[in-house]
Parts: sequence; C-alpha cells; structure tokens
Amino acid sequence: MKRVAVYTSGGDAPGMNACIRAVVRGAIYHGVEIYGIRYGYAGMIKGDMKQLSSHSVSNIIQKGGTILKSARSEEFMTKEGRKKAYESLKEHGIEGLICIGGDGSFTGAKIFYEEFGIPIVGAPGTIDNDIYGTDFTIGFDTAVNTAISAIDKIRDTADSHDRIFFVEVMGRDSGYIAIRSGICGGAEIVLVPETNTTMEEVIETLKKGKNRSKTSSLVVVAEGDEIGGAIEIAEMARKHLQDADIRVATLGHIQRGGAPSAKDRILASRMGLSAIEGLLNGRKNVMAGVMKDELVYTPFEHAITIEKTLSPDLLRMVDIFNS
Ligand code: ATP
Repeated sequence: MKRVAVYTSGGDAPGMNACIRAVVRGAIYHGVEIYGIRYGYAGMIKGDMKQLSSHSVSNIIQKGGTILKSARSEEFMTKEGRKKAYESLKEHGIEGLICIGGDGSFTGAKIFYEEFGIPIVGAPGTIDNDIYGTDFTIGFDTAVNTAISAIDKIRDTADSHDRIFFVEVMGRDSGYIAIRSGICGGAEIVLVPETNTTMEEVIETLKKGKNRSKTSSLVVVAEGDEIGGAIEIAEMARKHLQDADIRVATLGHIQRGGAPSAKDRILASRMGLSAIEGLLNGRKNVMAGVMKDELVYTPFEHAITIEKTLSPDLLRMVDIFNS
C-alpha cells in the first residue's frame, strides 16, 4: 500500500487525537502516505480529505475531541452513499482505511469492505466501552474520571444538606461508566441496563441507608437503565420517600470532553500503531484491541455482535458495601 487514510466517526471520545497521531506517525515511519478524512463517512462521501504530515499531528496527544472532526452520516447507510464514498477514495488513490469509532462505525466499515473490498482496520474509540475484543475502549477511562470528579462534588453538597442525589451518567446500552464511577464515588446504588433492579429494591436500599444514619445518599443511573433516566426514577422515589430531599444531576456531554487520561493516551497510541501496522501487514475487516495487556485483532463481526458483559464482581461489590 502506498496511500491510506484515517477517519474518526460516531460519538467523539477523549484519546481519539492520540490515536490519530499514532496512525499518522506509524504510517510515515513505514514510508506510507497518510490522509486524514474529515467528518467521518460524511467527509468520505464528499471527498473532504487531505494528506497529513508528521507535523500536522504535533501537540494533539493531550487534546480531547478529534482534530479530524466526527459526524454521523445517514447517506453512508445507503448503497448509493457508500458508492460515492468509494469513488472519492479511488479518486484520491486511497488503498486502505483506519476507522476510529464505535460499533456503528465498525458496522459501516464491515459493510463497506464487503461491498467494495477496501481493507479497513478499526481502533475502538468510544466512551461507552461496549465493544467486544478489547478490555477498554479509547475515552472510557477519561469519561469515568470526569464522572467521578463531578460525583465527588455532588457528594459534598448532598452531604451538607442531607440530600439524596440521582446522578445520571452516559450509557444508553451499557453500564460501564455507571458501575465504575458509582464504585469510586461510594454510591449506595448503581442502576445499569444489564441488571434488572426494581424500584422497590431502590427504595429499600435508600431506607436502609437512612436507618444506618447516613446523611446523604447517591444513586448512579446509566442513562439507558430499564426503569428510566435519573429524572423519572427520582420522580418515582419522591412518591415513596416523602420526607426526603431528592435532587437530580445529569452529567451529560462533559463526559465526552477534556484532556485524555494517561491510560487513554497510552491505550490510544498502542491501538493506533497496531491498527496501521496491521493494515500494512495485510489485515482487514478487523479491530485492533488490547486484552490482558496484549495487542489483539478481532473481526468486526465479533466486535459488534458479541456482547461484552459487566464484571459480576463489580456489581456484587456495590450490594455488599451497602448491605
Ligand atoms: P458511539 O458508540 O460513540 O456513538 P458509533 O460509531 O457507534 O459511536 P454511530 O452513530 O452508531 O456511532 O455510527 C456512526 C456512523 O457509522 C453512522 O452515522 C453511519 O454513517 C455509520 N453506520 C452505522 N451503522 C451503519 C450501517 N448499518 N450501515 C452503514 N453505515 C452505518
């Protein structure tokens, strides 16, 4: 391969820049031209791409977001859209791709490879950590640290006013951010989509806390929990705990931003280099990941379809600490 391109797609995640840098520097080290495609699949369709130099990725390892911008593209979901993307890659002489994104981006990459045969290697960039084939995804560690620092602050005010706080963190389909930030923030309850905690159990635990003379209580809720979001759950709790002062905090997009943690910078750099070297060594239709501290490649098919389960010992710990 003489010329390849890199793009970021789907939700942004801290560490994507460190990954881009690793891909660019790795490609240049191996004597291959590297292009950056802006705005993910939308930019690929429009031909919004240019060659990157080693210097173009200077001073970005510490920055959140993505210098290549990210986007969601409806057009790429159609065959005509993907054909346009293929034609614009051909026009620019691009022979292989590195996709930094989540499961949606890898689904698109897999379909694109199957239709047009262009080799693609992925690097998992998503704060959700919901991708099989890697213990952690790029951005997850930073997002958890951001959530913890917010939760610590909420605990201070909750404690001063003897309040119960329901804190909503990101995670539409997975409770990874919730369980880890909940444990680190000393939450009394953590509600995740993977387990079926009932509203009765929530009330019971909060009452138990009050009986143990706890002055504040914290419930961390993953946004996709089956009972509902933090606002709905707090509303239900108010009906059962009428004398309690119940408040809600939704952390929202702050979890996506900020400087990547040391762990994310290392992870992103390892995955970026492994992705580009894999591509140049003939790998395709796979994602680069790190499992048990070893670099591994997992077919897109498995990365997007195999469910990654939450560690049962983490869930058990929350119950034991608040029993
Ligand atoms: P995150 O999990 O952080 O949101 P993601 O990569 O899962 O990231 P998505 O919005 O699901 O984000 O997907 C990004 C883009 O991938 C979509 O906007 C679309 O262009 C492409 N894509 C997703 N699913 C498909 C599909 N089935 N066919 C073709 N393209 C797809």
